[in-house]
Amino acid sequence: MTAQDPSLHRRGGLLGWFGLGGRDDETAPSAIPNPVAERRQSVRDRHLDEIGAFLSYHQLEVNAQTLVIASNYLTGNDPQVVRLIDRRVQAREPVTLDWLEDALSEEGMGDEAELLERLMERLEQGVEEFGKTSRAAREATSAYHSELSKEAGKLDAVPSTGAVITELASITKAMLKRTLEIEKAMQRSEEQTRTLKGKLEETRRSAEEDHLTGLPNRRAFEARYEAEYRAARAAAEPLCVAFCDIDHFKRVNDTHGHDAGDRVLKLVAENLARISDERCHVARHGGEEFVVLFRDLTVSEAFDKLDRLRAALAERRLVNRATDLPIGQVTFSAGIADVFACGDRRLALRAADAALYRAKIDGRNRICVAEPGEVKPSQLAA
Ligand code: GH3
Ligand code: MG
Ligand code: MG
Repeated sequence: MTAQDPSLHRRGGLLGWFGLGGRDDETAPSAIPNPVAERRQSVRDRHLDEIGAFLSYHQLEVNAQTLVIASNYLTGNDPQVVRLIDRRVQAREPVTLDWLEDALSEEGMGDEAELLERLMERLEQGVEEFGKTSRAAREATSAYHSELSKEAGKLDAVPSTGAVITELASITKAMLKRTLEIEKAMQRSEEQTRTLKGKLEETRRSAEEDHLTGLPNRRAFEARYEAEYRAARAAAEPLCVAFCDIDHFKRVNDTHGHDAGDRVLKLVAENLARISDERCHVARHGGEEFVVLFRDLTVSEAFDKLDRLRAALAERRLVNRATDLPIGQVTFSAGIADVFACGDRRLALRAADAALYRAKIDGRNRICVAEPGEVKPSQLAA
């Protein structure tokens, strides 16, 4: 039996076609899912619906922050969020993004990265499955519609004007109209699913990007570091990690203002990004600190690559374009570590940081290589 089988619609009409018409369902094509039952059974889909309803009721845009807040509120996972929102609703004040940001930053939200990651995964799965279900149902409706349309044509051709035939013909036409409406509604829900998917992807991207420099942020770096560590170990390739920190950056802010400081940060980020490729990953670790991963380079090769960049930047003389005042030389110091020589990736990060500290003490605008045993496992607990 195919989806085009005209006999199907006689077994329980539309419901039967969708596999919702009682025992005869078993004869419905197994490729056609049962959206109503799936939706009822799925806690995940329900949670997705509730989040959607919450955001739409409060007219909040869909972004990483509002998704986490809605989830925390609805599950009661975060009593602070529940208390704040309930109080706000009782006071008949609007729950807006600005208010949420203020209220939650006052209360202190903590690190939501992990929860966000899990929530995004669940939402993406939910949206993906809903999209598939909706598409399959629309195709089924469309097939049903064309079969019904053929039957309606046959009825019109029957050379009888008896009451039963007339009645049948008008019921069939009403059903045709209804299937068209259902098809359109499903098309709309597919479009909404696509939009939501787009927003989720955008949210995920933005959650992993540093907004000032456009580089991957610390969160993205950590995921990347773990993946590269596993891949390099499996391929028996070297892996190096470097911490870079702009020298005397506070002075730039103090002398030229925060906006000029931001521009300098962007410039350093752009310079560092030039060495990034599939095997070399640059991220902003926070503040005026960057981190670089070098796959398949020995520590001396990685050192040379980064040192060329350091020397080229140190050659430049910057000018504050807002005031035309000279900023002068901007340099960075770095510490670089051979990850596998350090034992593991956490120790390597600590060793690179310790080497960076040495580079600062030794006079800045230089790179120091982490010495074996620079950080001992026992120091990690500190
Ligand atoms: P050192 O050579 O020892 O690293 O000195 P430093 O002045 O660079 O280091 P310090 O840690 O004393 O100061 C870092 C400054 O970076 C302080 C902070 O305000 C500034 N900073 C951190 N993030 C940003 C940012 O996003 N924009 C701007 N403009 N400044 C930032
Ligand atoms: Mg610093
Ligand atoms: Mg610094």
